[in-house]
Amino acid sequence: MGRGHRYPVVVAGPLTDSSSPTAEILAIGSELLTPFRVDTNSLFLTSRLNDHGLELLGKAVVGDRPQALVDALRQAVGRADVVVTTGGLGPTDDDLTRDALAAVAGVPFREEAAVLAAIADRFARRKMPMPAINRRQALVPEGATVLDNPNGTAPGLWLAVGRSVIVALPGPPRELKPMWDTHVAPRLLARFGQQHLRRRTLKIAGRGESHVDEIAAPIYGPLRAASPAIDTSILASPGQVELHLSAKGHDGDALDRALEQAVAALADAIGLPVFSVDGRELEEVVGDLLRARGGTVAVAESCTGGLVLGRLTNVSGSSAWVTGGVVAYDNAVKVRDLGVPESLLAAHGAVSEPVASAMAVGVRTRLQTSVGVGITGIAGPTGGSEAKPVGTVVIAVDGPDGRHVVRTVRFPGDRVMVRQMSVQTALDLLRRACAEGCT
Ligand code: AMP
Ligand code: MG
Repeated sequence: MGRGHRYPVVVAGPLTDSSSPTAEILAIGSELLTPFRVDTNSLFLTSRLNDHGLELLGKAVVGDRPQALVDALRQAVGRADVVVTTGGLGPTDDDLTRDALAAVAGVPFREEAAVLAAIADRFARRKMPMPAINRRQALVPEGATVLDNPNGTAPGLWLAVGRSVIVALPGPPRELKPMWDTHVAPRLLARFGQQHLRRRTLKIAGRGESHVDEIAAPIYGPLRAASPAIDTSILASPGQVELHLSAKGHDGDALDRALEQAVAALADAIGLPVFSVDGRELEEVVGDLLRARGGTVAVAESCTGGLVLGRLTNVSGSSAWVTGGVVAYDNAVKVRDLGVPESLLAAHGAVSEPVASAMAVGVRTRLQTSVGVGITGIAGPTGGSEAKPVGTVVIAVDGPDGRHVVRTVRFPGDRVMVRQMSVQTALDLLRRACAEGCT
């Protein structure tokens, strides 16, 4: 027999494997369906649900319409062990969550005297008369537990429906967050025991998504079949690929050990392109490498206009290893402030390996750092030629003892993408140079 198609909800059989409970989130409010408000509550809730080992099956934004709400709730309780709703618990006509809850559970309302007293008291303390409409907030679906809200008038609700539980929380984040910790977390702990969902991420630069997947795919199979099973997913952004691993279960240490082994196996197979397995960003890894060796870096940027220095100085404490740089957009600046010979510019053009190298050497010498980076390229959409099409970027890293690397790359995409890939590639070349002792 199916679940949730008739009203009241009929339950047959266990919903899921009891070791892996599931959740859904409904963000309720018509304002969240406009271009002006974004549902942020679900990100907070997802993180907290994961802390209890609850895996999210889905989330949805639902407007303040009675039938849409009832439909969405009914579907969600038909699928997930826990359904968390946010919003729609206020006193006005468009606050419909309470009604939808009662409809889906198939129960009547009762007026809760204690809730009414708490709301009345809240108004009394602010020396304001209680509006009649606030009385609605004391209506509680039969069988629901009221979750006290110290920061607002809308109390939350905890209501078992069949094998699932619906947790209804108010919309304002400053009300919802403390209510989670006080009321919801302990109840979930009692219901599901101490479950864990642990995550690890490998961050990779200098390899495309399909290339990484090709290497990782043979390793995934056994990981997914292992106990505890490890889930994997691959995410790509310009210049960076991430492998996300997760595992859930009761024994947190066992999960950590399994994930550690999986991370090690993948990092081993992929090799040098893996720059982080502990959440650090590329610029933080560069900073840690430089700091460990007492090195410093300066950057000369043309097509990236300071974006590389922007990334490096994102890192708190970066003044210990970032000296500064030159945005040398105009050739005159390349000559005057970096000492790039005019003859090089004339002979090879601004976007060339000799010029990128001279920029790296120039900024390193003038700012007296251990490493210098030079970047020059054509970000587009104008300025390309047959020999040097849009997306052509040259990056040089100059270090001590004649250590020097220079790369010409050709990036796809628009101006934003080309610049982003340039930054990422420059940071990665810098990282590799630092890892090889280029300081
Ligand atoms: P409500 O509980 O529906 O009266 O919501 C009150 C206010 O909470 C809204 O006007 C929003 O500012 C905020 N809010 C509601 N839902 C969300 C959400 N999913 N994420 C972030 N803020 C929200
Ligand atoms: Mg609302």
